[in-house]
Amino acid sequence: MKPMFLGKLVLHWCPSCNVPVLEEKCACGCQTNFITVTPPADIRPAFPYDINRINEVSVRQFGKKLIADGEVAVYNKAPYDDRMEEIICGGDVIGTIRFEIDKPGWVLMPRLSGARRIFNKKEKETNPNIEKQLKNWIMVHESAIPYVIDGSSVLVPGISKTAPGIEKESEVVIVTPDFEVIAVGRSKMSSDEIAASERGKAVKTRWTGYEEADKANAAASTIPKDIENANQMQTRDIWKKTIDANRHVIDQFEADGVKFIRNAAGNMKKKLTTSFSGGKDSLVTLHLTEKAFGAGSETEKEYEIIFADTGLEFQETIDNVKEVVEIYGHPFKETSAGNVFWEEYEIYGPPGVDNRWCTQSCKLKPITTLIETNYLEDGGCLTFIGQRQYESKARATSQRIWKSPSVRGQIGAAPIQEWTAMHVWLYIFDKDLHYNPLYEKGFDRIGCWLCPAASLADFENLRHTHPELMKMWDEKLIQSGKDMGIENPDLWVKFGFWRYEKLPPLMKKLADEKGVKYK
Ligand code: SF4
Ligand SMILES: [Zn+2]
Repeated sequence: MKPMFLGKLVLHWCPSCNVPVLEEKCACGCQTNFITVTPPADIRPAFPYDINRINEVSVRQFGKKLIADGEVAVYNKAPYDDRMEEIICGGDVIGTIRFEIDKPGWVLMPRLSGARRIFNKKEKETNPNIEKQLKNWIMVHESAIPYVIDGSSVLVPGISKTAPGIEKESEVVIVTPDFEVIAVGRSKMSSDEIAASERGKAVKTRWTGYEEADKANAAASTIPKDIENANQMQTRDIWKKTIDANRHVIDQFEADGVKFIRNAAGNMKKKLTTSFSGGKDSLVTLHLTEKAFGAGSETEKEYEIIFADTGLEFQETIDNVKEVVEIYGHPFKETSAGNVFWEEYEIYGPPGVDNRWCTQSCKLKPITTLIETNYLEDGGCLTFIGQRQYESKARATSQRIWKSPSVRGQIGAAPIQEWTAMHVWLYIFDKDLHYNPLYEKGFDRIGCWLCPAASLADFENLRHTHPELMKMWDEKLIQSGKDMGIENPDLWVKFGFWRYEKLPPLMKKLADEKGVKYK
């Protein structure tokens, strides 16, 4: 999958404050370091829930946490078959975590700086048990080191010892006799096979090199804090220093957003509305609209909040919409697709990434009805929408003000078009906005809960956060699989094959391997 630029890469790190900054200069006055991340680079905060997951996987794979409690970490979703996130911490991309669909499960792939947070050669000098405590490491002879550094695979004769229990196709860390990390990669043999062989390729390396600076280890020891039961207060607390470092960025983006909203409204004689979906982007858009036209603003104007329920919203989203609307206290117009999805499911079966029959009935129809019923007679409306260029190619190439092609009488305008998700979150934390609690539970996008466009990782998460919804959906899908004559319908559901009308090549191969056959 090719990475695609949808906007500028804006992630920098202040070496003095040790936090991310979205510009070249930190508010403290320091020059920041640019961080290269994979485009489209819609960077965002890793929430305590995400960090817990990273650490859980890190402990399972290597025997130790990767990220310190209370430490600021940034996530960057990178192109992949399912979900993959780059992890940025202490001014470095320290690794990636990705959901491998054939397992299915999360795998942590540390880079050298990440591996050095776990395998610390100084700790080896003081802790005689370190070799037993850590997992998935392979120690090479001095003579093999230059070859490994050069990027060659690790061969069996070059290995002096290994941690026990390494399985084939595991992420492994290659260390020198004094426990310095010199490479990370994937094992091509288990530790038992290595012990029993005289030759062969044991590890295919991915990142290799000597330790240049101990910056990652130094950064790993910040404010210790228990993040097990994280909530919105804790998340805001962790990000406080980052907000201070980005004060100028936040203020500038707010000023631009408010100015854009005022200009757009001033040029049009239309009723003003702002669309609120219970998601982070529309929350910021609503707040900017309030800044522009709310009570006490120099350009005070009436505007209405609109919400079109697809009938597939999370209860948390419905609740958040009600609570936020009450906070802002403006007229509220809503509509719902009600049970339409379930009625049409009986006719069309599961929707697919390549067969989104529900878009028409659950998304477009309700919003069209809402606009036509409430605004068409008065000449239509201007709606502020939380669309951002970093989300997709379609959005990146969209105008900032446009005439809706599908909803008669609606003009859309995007005040936060140029914001990354990180701008959005820093703004939310700074202004103490009332965001949807689902963001604290591993969700990064909030919409229809069963959308086939979601990753398998998202569905796996849903299994933990909303077991009753997933149980119902699993049963429904398995029944559909049976009705369609699919062999092993439970695996058809488990591996997410149901999300495609026609399987893409990689999924087709996996379906064949798992014995999932279509009639
Ligand atoms: S977001 Fe997904 S589930 Fe919802 S209407 Fe669109 S395709 Fe269907
Ligand atoms: Zn700074």
